[in-house]
Amino acid sequence: MAVARETKSGIDYDKIVGTYRQYVMDTYGGRQPISLARGAGVEVWDTTGKRYLDFLAGIAVNGLGHCHPGVVNAIREQAGILMHVSNLYYTESQARLAKMLVEWSEMDKAFFCNSGAEANEAAIKLARKWGKSKGSDQKFEIVTALESFHGRTMGAITATGQPKYQKSFEPLVPGFKYVPYNDVEALRSTVTDATCAVLLEPIQGESGVHPASKEYLAAARKACDEVGALLIFDEVQTGLGRTGRMFAYEHYGVAPDVMTLAKTLGGGFPIGACLARDAAAEVFQPGDHASTFGGNPLACAAGIAAMTALHEEALVENARDVGEYFASKLRTFKSKRDDVIEVRGMGLLLGIEFATPVARTIAGQCLELGLIVNAIGDRIIRFLPPLVVTRKHVDEAMSILAEAAGAL
Ligand SMILES: *Cc1c(COP(=O)(O)O)cnc(C)c1O
Repeated sequence: MAVARETKSGIDYDKIVGTYRQYVMDTYGGRQPISLARGAGVEVWDTTGKRYLDFLAGIAVNGLGHCHPGVVNAIREQAGILMHVSNLYYTESQARLAKMLVEWSEMDKAFFCNSGAEANEAAIKLARKWGKSKGSDQKFEIVTALESFHGRTMGAITATGQPKYQKSFEPLVPGFKYVPYNDVEALRSTVTDATCAVLLEPIQGESGVHPASKEYLAAARKACDEVGALLIFDEVQTGLGRTGRMFAYEHYGVAPDVMTLAKTLGGGFPIGACLARDAAAEVFQPGDHASTFGGNPLACAAGIAAMTALHEEALVENARDVGEYFASKLRTFKSKRDDVIEVRGMGLLLGIEFATPVARTIAGQCLELGLIVNAIGDRIIRFLPPLVVTRKHVDEAMSILAEAAGAL
């Protein structure tokens, strides 16, 4: 597949890959054999000019589609006015974005950073200080779920309950405990007076699209309340419309004390946020936490434009509507095959699990046919199309998926 493909602009796939081999650290295992050059809405084009439907959307980052005009214009305009100033000064764009996020959620205050992992680091530090503020040096344990994903910094990989991400980097951060996801009993018996926080994804995305049960999140809320621990939801992937509600926790009627966001927040531009209710937010005092780049005018202008588009274009509703349509098409696909075990997910965070290890082959075949999807392990395919996706795009994706799977 990795044949030289000369483009009009003279950029050559093999040359790019060769330069990567020589100059870029080799940390990404699943790099696909194409080089992407351009995007618009749900479509991207590689350096040969071949078009793809992007049903991965930068792993949920391109929630508004590629190069959304509102976001592009906001970035262009802000870049010519003021890109960055230190957090030693006030800026209008950070104030406005914080207000939007707070008004849309049950949170009261925002802290801005640059990624999902950093948002979780902020939440972890907030939780640790929360424990101390309760007058106990012993209240520092953070309970997270097995098969979770919270990012790649030391605190975030420690929170991530997957030994494969942790084992080369031990010793990890002390004070974390892991419980099987959706196991109410295990959570109840692990949360004690020593717990300062429980950190969960409402839907585990990275490990294969596993939604929490209603009882589980309700039990987590109750367990936290009983011992005075913070309930933290990592909505880095599920937040901002992805699941057909603004925040995934709305499906459950269980609100957290702290919530982390990133991915869709900047409409493609890097930005993360840790939001908290006042009771929790107040434990952070001047000097406790900071980020040089966090909440800079350029990132916040992108965020404001992205959130404005999300609202004005009713993309949360679109995610719900097209997501239901897509899920029904996937269930029809399942009913026609005896090797599909399950269709899972909510809104436009969907996954199908196969009985046999065909996911990578099918995803590779989809790529050949012009559809970008994400294989998780050997048996799961995850779909995260932009929230601007239409039924017509879904129909096109389904016909490619059927052809790719049919060719097995
Ligand atoms: C992607 C993701 C992260 C990490 O975000 P980065 O921006 O890569 O640091 C954390 N939590 C969840 C649930 C994610 O999906």
